[in-house]
Amino acid sequence: VEVDAVIETFAFDVGRIRCIAVHDGEMPYRAEDYVANAETAEVTEALALHGHPPDAIPSPYSGLVVQADERAILIDTGAGDLTPNVGHLTENLRAAGIAPEAIDTVILTHAHPDHIGGNADDAGQAAFPDAQYVLWRDEWNWWTDEANLAPMAPVFGEWVRRNLVPLADRVDLLDREVDLAPGVHVLATPGHTEGHLAISVVSDGHELLYISDAALHPIHLEHPDWHPVWDQDRERAAASKRKLFDHAATSGALVLAFHFPPFPSLGHVERHGKGWHWEPIGPQS
Ligand SMILES: [Zn+2]
Repeated sequence: VEVDAVIETFAFDVGRIRCIAVHDGEMPYRAEDYVANAETAEVTEALALHGHPPDAIPSPYSGLVVQADERAILIDTGAGDLTPNVGHLTENLRAAGIAPEAIDTVILTHAHPDHIGGNADDAGQAAFPDAQYVLWRDEWNWWTDEANLAPMAPVFGEWVRRNLVPLADRVDLLDREVDLAPGVHVLATPGHTEGHLAISVVSDGHELLYISDAALHPIHLEHPDWHPVWDQDRERAAASKRKLFDHAATSGALVLAFHFPPFPSLGHVERHGKGWHWEPIGPQS
């Protein structure tokens, strides 16, 4: 049977914890934004090894549902109506049999538009009305300060005002690494943004590491000193990336790398040269 349909959800187990990756959509990116500190020709060559053109690097967006201890935790909510090609997370959740009302906790790894845009529905109302939100305190404080938003491209402020600020009365702001449920551990991995988080899901000796935007493409593992233009603090971002991927290489943890094509962005890493080699796995393997 030939299967042409786009895969929109992907369920897998981490020990006894069920995880469901939910596709939000896909956007093309440019090499000069993905790597701000290397020669274009060098980046183009690195991308070509992955079959990706420098002017249209495919980048999926997704959310991850973690069903642990009778909880339904959603990590990140996609981009909302940023473009017609994204913002499909809620409808794909429903198609997978999960009502938005069933989500009891939403973890926001950081407040960039592609990770918070599904917090509000098309009418501007709470898309996950029964959820308590969790993010790092420094992240909340940074993005809710209009002085920080003023010099940025308008979309950042628009998405924060619509999708983050209205959550003020139902956010839990973290200032230490905690377990949000048995086996669901929050890791402070600052640098991409002020309070960027990664999530470790552990059960029965298996681990999933959700790295969010600690790297955006396998070229950021092959060249660990390469940074996208969006990394706010390159030194802290590099240290966080090293901590996460050295851990994943040592432990053999499954990695979910939000922007790595194709959805569901799952794979393993091995140490290679100065960095790491990405070995994708997916529905086909
Ligand atoms: Zn992102």
